Amino acid sequence: MIPGDALNELDAMLGERLSTGKSDLALHGRSETYHGEMPPDAVVYPDTTEEVARIVEICARHGLPVIGWGTGTALEGHASAPRGGVTVDFRRMDRVLEVVPEDMLVRVQPGVTREALNTELRATGLFFPVDPGANASLGGMAATRASGTTAVRYGTMRDQVRGLEVVLADGRVIRTGTRARKSSAGYDLTGLFVGSEGTLGLMTELTLRLWGQPEAISAAVCGFETTEGAIAAVILAMQMGLAPARIEYVDVATVRILNAIDGADLPERPHLLLEFHGSDAAVAEEAARFGEIAAEHGGGDYAWATRAEERSRLWSMRHRAYHTILASRPGATAVVTDVCVPISRLGEALGRAAEAVAASPLEGPILGHVGDGNYHAILMVDRDDAGEAAEAKRLSDAMVAHALELGGTATGEHGVGFGKLHLMEAEHGAAWDVMGAVKRALDPEGVMNPGKLVRGN
Ligand SMILES: Cc1cc2nc3c(=O)[nH]c(=O)nc-3n(C[C@H](O)[C@H](O)[C@H](O)COP(=O)(O)OP(=O)(O)OC[C@H]3O[C@@H](n4cnc5c(N)ncnc54)[C@H](O)[C@@H]3O)c2cc1C
Repeated sequence: MIPGDALNELDAMLGERLSTGKSDLALHGRSETYHGEMPPDAVVYPDTTEEVARIVEICARHGLPVIGWGTGTALEGHASAPRGGVTVDFRRMDRVLEVVPEDMLVRVQPGVTREALNTELRATGLFFPVDPGANASLGGMAATRASGTTAVRYGTMRDQVRGLEVVLADGRVIRTGTRARKSSAGYDLTGLFVGSEGTLGLMTELTLRLWGQPEAISAAVCGFETTEGAIAAVILAMQMGLAPARIEYVDVATVRILNAIDGADLPERPHLLLEFHGSDAAVAEEAARFGEIAAEHGGGDYAWATRAEERSRLWSMRHRAYHTILASRPGATAVVTDVCVPISRLGEALGRAAEAVAASPLEGPILGHVGDGNYHAILMVDRDDAGEAAEAKRLSDAMVAHALELGGTATGEHGVGFGKLHLMEAEHGAAWDVMGAVKRALDPEGVMNPGKLVRGN
């Protein structure tokens, strides 16, 4: 319960931008996956950094948790409120503050979504490449160190964030980073806040790197006789230095569902979905080289999509795939795995994952950003069936244990939230304690998004 005094102080500052309505609280307690609803006690909609700082200061004084909220698409309960408190929804802080084409930089407020940014940039010849599928906020994407289909060429949020403005747990406002391409000036605080899931502070402004829109883009769909062949083609392509902008794997189960529900017309085989960016000549050369590699590994049915509408149909089908898979079992939710392994071990990891799913009573189509060694099994479960959830978590934990043996990670891009908290000790050992020490140094009272990412906060 939120104390009356705290509510009065927030109300005096925010008026109608403070909400305690049941449906608003429920909306801000929901997760996209199997985690139950954990609503906050209040939701606030600030307009400025100063208001965010004051909100944090009021909450800290009253011992109330503060949880950042972008668009709520994170998958591990990151933005829900297991201990109640105040959710800070950044949707009104949605301005592109400055575009600096000469330095290929942009300064944005955290509530700007990636699609809105790219719409704004369209006339500049520049674009922002990170694409997690969901139209997430840039604040949320930085907070989860998101990546997605294009990271194989352009990198993740870690590689795009040049600087931040952050409100700390004590209400102080700091700036990290500079506009320079590089700096040796002390600890990399920007890197520390990127991926911190709102547990160290709230980002109120981001300076991001931009890229030139490619002169030519070409996409292709390629079916393979076997999964081993598809993955061997990916590994060889990456080892030979090909630089596809996207290289995505979908297994046969996913293909069947896309055909049945989303109107795709793909042969029932494992497929790679690819995109190449560059000059006309470079795109043609990369595509031809990949075609040769694919042919050597049982790839055929190489279908090109050169027109923009065909490409956008392909990628929106890929981006819808999670919801299409869920639609194949009405009422189901999912435990979504997210392991990432070194590219040389991808075949082993994916092979073991596919065997484990096949041996389980659960359905778990597999798809992923295989150029990065990252893939997801969408383990479908009935929300009310504790046995199914337990089986899905068993499978997921086994995949993580194998990925760690292979030198990989429990989560390539979705992050920890509370859903992957139990895996952190095994991945980090004593380094996880160091994360806890950083947390305690910056947030001794445990105000910022408690119960997530680090132990016992
Ligand atoms: C269908 C689907 C597909 C997805 N595919 C991918 C994918 O391919 N790659 C990928 O990386 N992710 C993927 N995701 C996960 C999700 O889109 C990302 O985690 C996204 O980056 C979260 O952004 P958001 O705006 O929704 O943040 P939210 O979910 O609102 O918040 C995420 C976290 O960030 C914190 N936060 C939010 N704003 C701030 C702020 N301003 N300052 C500090 N902390 C803040 C929150 O407290 C929370 O801990 C997918 C999700 C869905 C539903």
